[in-house]
Amino acid sequence: MSQIKPLGKRRRKKLQNRVDEKLGYRSYHDGDVAVKSTGADSLGIYAVRQFTPGELVMEIRGQVLAKASYEGSTYVMELDDDWYLEPAIPASFLNHSCNPNSELVQLSKLTMGLVAICNIEEGSQITFDYCWPALKWIPRCECGSPNCRGWVVAQDEVEKMKKIARRKGKRKAS
Ligand SMILES: [Zn+2]
Repeated sequence: MSQIKPLGKRRRKKLQNRVDEKLGYRSYHDGDVAVKSTGADSLGIYAVRQFTPGELVMEIRGQVLAKASYEGSTYVMELDDDWYLEPAIPASFLNHSCNPNSELVQLSKLTMGLVAICNIEEGSQITFDYCWPALKWIPRCECGSPNCRGWVVAQDEVEKMKKIARRKGKRKAS
């Protein structure tokens, strides 16, 4: 078996910039939504125009994975009893908020969609509530909303998450 020579860190960064800028993988723009920097060290999806409540914001396509042989990420969405949808670009850049402006709906057998649940002004970041179950690691939320739950977990999982975080805190302190 021949060894693959690893890309140097700097060369990888340079080539990634080329992918981003020249090939547009991280600069998706469909006229209604666009990928932009959130200012922090991450990307998000932004409204290019205004959306009114009930309006479809975007379709979410991706890789369909059998639950039976699931090896997806935490970002995976449930399609039905047998299948998950692992969001592809640009939907993979959608961020969570505890005070979201859109919600997830199933659009077809293989795709999900985001629908506006309030008025979304042009330039606003598109967010939805990930509603994760309490996890063993601590998914801190930095959405910055006044009603931020502190973690990227569903409202009814917050108590469970608090317990896990407390246990982890203790372990760290001892
Ligand atoms: Zn939050």
